[in-house]
Amino acid sequence: MSRVVLITGASRGIGAVTAALAASRGYHVGVNYRANRAAAEGVVAGIRDAGGTAVAIAGDVAVEDDVLRMFAECEGALGPITDLVNNAGVVDMKARVDEMSAARLQRMFAVNVFGTMLCAREAVKRMSTRHGGTGGVIVNVSSVAARIGSPGEYVDYAAAKGAVDVFTIGLAKEVAAEGIRVNAVRPGIVRTEIHASGGQPDRLERIAPLVPMLRPGEPEEIAGAILWLLSPEASYTSGTLLDVSGAR
Ligand code: NAP
Repeated sequence: MSRVVLITGASRGIGAVTAALAASRGYHVGVNYRANRAAAEGVVAGIRDAGGTAVAIAGDVAVEDDVLRMFAECEGALGPITDLVNNAGVVDMKARVDEMSAARLQRMFAVNVFGTMLCAREAVKRMSTRHGGTGGVIVNVSSVAARIGSPGEYVDYAAAKGAVDVFTIGLAKEVAAEGIRVNAVRPGIVRTEIHASGGQPDRLERIAPLVPMLRPGEPEEIAGAILWLLSPEASYTSGTLLDVSGAR
């Protein structure tokens, strides 16, 4: 039986590179996206051209009905889901906490925290031996922001990723005896479009000198860590927060 991985937010950035790497290692890949269908179809086409198997799946992880449909669509197209990468995430414009609207805070937690939790819930329902499943692996994409706090930039995002970290630890313990491993990768600053989407296209250049390795990470370097956590080589690793951040 082939492994089937659903990767949220896989149309661009870290998710897209993780999808391609997973496919190259034999996973059948559900490429979730929220809005950018063309980009998701491009990721799927790249995987198929390379001889792999993938399908694009629309859905907003913050919307429960979308999450239910995403899992059903992925299973319908590829078979039982054995692995989940909770990668979809958003930042917002640089702001202090005393400038943040309630709507911004709601969105920050709806996507980064509740989206992660809803997808994990659906995965556990399918993977857990308690529910007749055969086990599985969940990798949550957090951030070193959870450790640093991101003052003056986006404390709301950092707090949301902090919640992802605690969720990872708790869920890992809850399902450890049910065949499911749960871990998080905490990237440092990585070369993707997320910085421009937060109104800071120059953020990579600005932060790079603060990184002990003196450079941003590449999405491939995050994808490699995610694939290791998914793999049997990580069979005794669960409840771990793996920083991939150039020693920052
Ligand atoms: P990105 O380049 O901005 O890509 C974001 C992806 O998430 C896109 O595929 C986007 O889909 C999708 N997405 C956004 N909101 C969604 C939603 N509500 N439902 C489903 N999909 C959604 O981001 P990235 O830099 O690759 O970040 C990936 C993850 O790494 C995030 O969790 C982020 O917080 C984390 N991270 C990134 C960095 C960094 O420096 N890049 C550092 C630490 C942590 P569309 O294409 O349809 O918009």
